[in-house]
Amino acid sequence: MAKDRLAEVLERYEAVIGLEIHTEITAANTKMFCGCPVAFGGEPNTRVCPVCLGMPGALPVPNEAAIEWTVLAGLATECDIALWSQFHRKQYFYPDMPKDYQISQYDLPFCSGGFVDIEVDGDGVAERADLGGALPFVGPEAIAADDGYRTRIGITRIHLEEDTGKMVHVGGSEGRISGATHSLVDFNRAGTPLMELVTEPDIRTPEEARRFAQKLRSVWLALGVSDCNMEEGSMRVDANVSIRPRGATELGTKSEVKNMNSFKSLHDAIAYEIVRHADVLDSGGRVVQETRHWDAGAKRTSGLRSKEEAHDYRYFPEPDMVPFSFDPAWIAALAEQLPELPDARRDRYMAELGLPKHDASALAAEYALACYFEEAVALAGADRAKPVANWMLGDLAANLNAESIDIAEAHVTSAMLAELVGLIEDGAISGKQAKEVFAEAAGTGDAPGAIVEARGMKQVSDTAEIELVVQRVLDANPDEVATYRGGKTGLLGFFVGQVMREMRGQGNPAVVNEVVRRLLG
Ligand code: ADP
Ligand code: ZN
Ligand code: MG
Repeated sequence: MAKDRLAEVLERYEAVIGLEIHTEITAANTKMFCGCPVAFGGEPNTRVCPVCLGMPGALPVPNEAAIEWTVLAGLATECDIALWSQFHRKQYFYPDMPKDYQISQYDLPFCSGGFVDIEVDGDGVAERADLGGALPFVGPEAIAADDGYRTRIGITRIHLEEDTGKMVHVGGSEGRISGATHSLVDFNRAGTPLMELVTEPDIRTPEEARRFAQKLRSVWLALGVSDCNMEEGSMRVDANVSIRPRGATELGTKSEVKNMNSFKSLHDAIAYEIVRHADVLDSGGRVVQETRHWDAGAKRTSGLRSKEEAHDYRYFPEPDMVPFSFDPAWIAALAEQLPELPDARRDRYMAELGLPKHDASALAAEYALACYFEEAVALAGADRAKPVANWMLGDLAANLNAESIDIAEAHVTSAMLAELVGLIEDGAISGKQAKEVFAEAAGTGDAPGAIVEARGMKQVSDTAEIELVVQRVLDANPDEVATYRGGKTGLLGFFVGQVMREMRGQGNPAVVNEVVRRLLG
């Protein structure tokens, strides 16, 4: 879909978006109402028991750790924590759910009424509300640095429930049921503790939705509640989308899109829906309230089923469990355990380490990246935080990307990067040599110091030694010297290049420049 089309639609219509984000509490280790382990993959139907298989008479016992994680998640997102709450049964039939009801929460969720602030960069200084509704962009590509703004997205609630099993449709295209010869069901995932966070319909563009989901993931990672792996489904984002004519206050009819397994898909699916709704309205039609499926290959959504209403689920209080009454002192004690969250970390990197906002945000957003950065800075010294950040966001990021590995698996460890930055900053090797050392370290896992030693690399900064080489180069190129002295100072680079070649790249570029300039007089 053409980006211009979305921009054109958003000039006439305002998009209204609310997200429902399911996160598996992988940190809880065991399932929500039984002792089966929580893990991804494995032989089908090996991590099951009578409780998570829904056998008659099996009784659920709530997982205290999962409840604590949910309360922590609520505290991290400024929610009120309910002092009294309970689980409800949500009835529906689907083969991946053995009990024919899901234990979930209804009108008494653990957390409600929170918010998360997002920034759509640039500098994120303007408030969205001050932009007067005219959001002059549709994606990050179109956002100039000074177009940035920030806004607050309300969180309606976070409740706790149990995940379903997984259907495998054999022979279906892209694992979907159409065209399948038969279906299998794996209950390993059934009963995994699942937090569902619901936002207010406060989001206005596909890019804001992406930023919100990314921000939430970075908060969850800092908390340690989940590994938030969108591809494996431990974090799943559904988007509710509607549009209304600019200036209207009533909400339009929404559709709900599922099955986006990356932030890009989330963005693209919402953009697709906005344009689809506009096409329907522009041609005089009415948007149908329904659930739709995002097909990442075809880059389109298709109708899945018409949406159930809450009364179809026949919610009632789970009779096999007593309600919860939380002691405010217990909640306060959990609040004490909250770790540093990404925004605070970013601000600290700016204030204490002098990092520019872009670097600070990028490093603080990903918990594992922040840990690596802090280890490297602890070894290299706080005054070298900026070069450490540059290497991490430059060569290291490119290397991880090229090899499709996580920072935790990086061949160049934080200690190795600190060592490399030390070699450069102490003038032992040039920046150009450092790039070669990094590449070799990334390939072999050898320490930078050892590589420099083995390759006989060093940087010559000794002025007298460099003067000898410069003089040799000037003597060998009398015509160029005359031309330079005649006013063609652009030839400076030529001399520097000749000297560097003679020195096999080992001359300190700053010193070489200075000496060439001086001797050319
Ligand atoms: P449902 O009953 O269909 O589940 P909810 O009222 O529970 O709907 O809201 C689900 C999500 O949809 C929330 O994130 C909410 O902010 C969002 N939402 C509700 N109405 C709209 C709308 N008209 N347009 C876009 N999003 C909406
Ligand atoms: Zn079990
Ligand atoms: Mg709902």
